Amino acid sequence: MTDKLVGRRILVKGIVQGVGFRPRVYGYAKESNLTGWVCNSSRGVEIEITGEETNTAAFIQELKTTPPPLAKIDSFEVVEIPAAHYPDFRIVTSLAEPDEFLPISSDIATCPDCQNELFDPSNRRYRYPFINCTNCGPRFTIIKDIPYDRPNTTMAPFVMCPDCQKEYENPTDRRFHAQPTACPVCGPKLRLISSQGELAAEEKVIQKSRELIKAGKIVAIKGLGGYLLACDATNPIAVETLRSRKKRSQKPFALMAFNQEEIENYCNIFSEESELLHSIQHPIVLLKKKITNEITEHIAPRQSRLGFMLPYTPLHLLLLEPAADFPKVLVMTSGNLSEEPIAYEDSEAFDRLASIADAFLTNDREILMRTDDSVVSVVDHHPYPIRRARGYAPAPIHLYKSVPTILATGGELKNAFCLTKQRYAFVSHHIGDLQNYETVQAFESGIEHFEKLFRVKPEAIAADLHPNYLSTVYAQERSHKDNLPLIGVQHHHAHLAACLADNGWKSEKPVIGFCFDGTGYGADSAIWGGEVLVGGYKTYARTHHLSYMPLPGGDAAIQRPYRIGLAYLWKAGIKWDIVLPSFQEAEENELTILLKLLEQGINTVDTSSMGRLFDVVSSMLGVCQRASYEGQAAIELESIIDPDEKGFYDMIIDGSVINIPNLLNSILQDIQNGIGVAIIAAKFHNSLVQLVDRLSLSLAKQFDTHTVALSGGVWQNRFLLEKSIGLLHDHGFEVLIHNQVPTNDGGISLGQAVVAAALLEK
Ligand code: ZN
Ligand code: ZN
Ligand code: FE
Repeated sequence: MTDKLVGRRILVKGIVQGVGFRPRVYGYAKESNLTGWVCNSSRGVEIEITGEETNTAAFIQELKTTPPPLAKIDSFEVVEIPAAHYPDFRIVTSLAEPDEFLPISSDIATCPDCQNELFDPSNRRYRYPFINCTNCGPRFTIIKDIPYDRPNTTMAPFVMCPDCQKEYENPTDRRFHAQPTACPVCGPKLRLISSQGELAAEEKVIQKSRELIKAGKIVAIKGLGGYLLACDATNPIAVETLRSRKKRSQKPFALMAFNQEEIENYCNIFSEESELLHSIQHPIVLLKKKITNEITEHIAPRQSRLGFMLPYTPLHLLLLEPAADFPKVLVMTSGNLSEEPIAYEDSEAFDRLASIADAFLTNDREILMRTDDSVVSVVDHHPYPIRRARGYAPAPIHLYKSVPTILATGGELKNAFCLTKQRYAFVSHHIGDLQNYETVQAFESGIEHFEKLFRVKPEAIAADLHPNYLSTVYAQERSHKDNLPLIGVQHHHAHLAACLADNGWKSEKPVIGFCFDGTGYGADSAIWGGEVLVGGYKTYARTHHLSYMPLPGGDAAIQRPYRIGLAYLWKAGIKWDIVLPSFQEAEENELTILLKLLEQGINTVDTSSMGRLFDVVSSMLGVCQRASYEGQAAIELESIIDPDEKGFYDMIIDGSVINIPNLLNSILQDIQNGIGVAIIAAKFHNSLVQLVDRLSLSLAKQFDTHTVALSGGVWQNRFLLEKSIGLLHDHGFEVLIHNQVPTNDGGISLGQAVVAAALLEK
């Protein structure tokens, strides 16, 4: 006797589209002798089944426990319905429902199966640069709307050939409903062009591109999220040419090698770093340099780490395919001029990159959303994001609870915005520094795209307190236009809250936050940045901060650490002296003007910035006097540390003020005593570690908490971070650090959103 037939309706939410979910459902349904259907909708994947009771239960169990590897199930709802009479089990057309939404998959690096096919001469996609399948390929960068189906992507204009169509429709094929499916017959095609026109016939494009790179030329390559600029990393002339054309004098370049073995010639790779390099995201991983030579110094001057990634598209694999006479490592840097956003549209790229690239390796698949490569480190055995973009965005951050729908516009540098809906926070991909027209355009169109893609209509807007940030200006205009409440969130409170949300922090207990960064608008209108805050999502108390020190000439001074150095020394009562490297850097008349500014307080703001303190120490030690990119002075100071030095300076705390003049005097004494810069740099870092620990111990008692959060751009300093975590752990603290969004300003929109959510709560 057979069981009676039962019916079930199932809704699966989460990242369930574009990841091979429906074929898996189809396969399980067939195995369990079920009839019914499965389809994508704007809510997720919807399933109806009829079958024997034990079989339906087994099906549900199997789907829950063994979903396809790339799927991320957030909820799994099962409803009993009457058994129906279906002829078989089918995959049916997707349903679009106007108000529903679901998270969508990020772009995924070429999978091992596709890699094998790419280099298999018997495969019909042999050496086809757009090979992909259900388990890999473009997603976020080509999707115009949900549900994720081919007509809603930039693959829509490519009509599938009969062979591709057959694979696309066959539930047992790896390409079943793989939306970007393509082959040499029907898919996108490469072109190699320069101002002279086409440089090679289609089948010779890769070969010709390789010849150009080998000859020291710079080739702009259209990838997943935009154009990258490539050149031979082992050719110093090519690298210098790229630097001068791109107007990027010293900031490190990212590198790409064909496989890990090549990278190991330059860097040490730990197992977690290797996992990250090979992960489905294939980010740029910051790796400890093994050797310093002419090559590494051109790529990343005075850095202890190099940023490496593995090829993440079939095109990259073909370009970097090992050959005796071809460079083993290529520079792969964003296709832009200096700080502008990455170029992603063809005409725009030809225009903007004309003065940089010798040739353009392009194709006819349109990129819908520009996305940079992500940058990640491994800290404490976990990924620690520095730039969150390709491969990660727009996957949501899961919030500790359901929140109102809020748009948070983020900061100014390294901007990323955030939209919340229910328990999701959609933190955007890295947008860039909102300091030029192109980036502001990218910011505005990005918000529009996310609101459409995730069916979000904000109920409130959260923004930084800084009146001049373009993200704040946008928030004000938008709040006015749409009549929405505008909630200002203090910059460092946003850092603290971002770190809490990043860790799914639920408790009402206050947390001790060390919010260390370069610049953030303070509640008292001073520039904050060395802040100790105790609080949570809703409120905070500023228990301690660094002494207010003068920052003459505002933002312009940031490019000249020696000027900040002189200003801090003046405030600390230290005479400007010829033995001081900061003094040696300044010109005679500059000193006169600077002194006047300081004495009369003209064009000078007060700051408690931790980032500026690093600039000052870096300048005092003669490490970096002029910075050509954000954080340079601090990064170079960290890179010279003597790791064996255990000494530190005793820092004085007067009430709520951490005494900086006193610290500078101690450092000066060491300089005058002829102590080496590597020792002093280490002692300076160690002092901050001690400070964090000491304050944590006293604040823990005062506020009855054992949790410490570390957030802000200064925590990109690994020495400081790892030592602080170590000491805090020794003293029994729970330490929260970022793991999904960057610790720098790329993470603050998440913090703004959750603070606003807490404030909106009745
Ligand atoms: Zn694949
Ligand atoms: Zn085809
Ligand atoms: Fe910040």
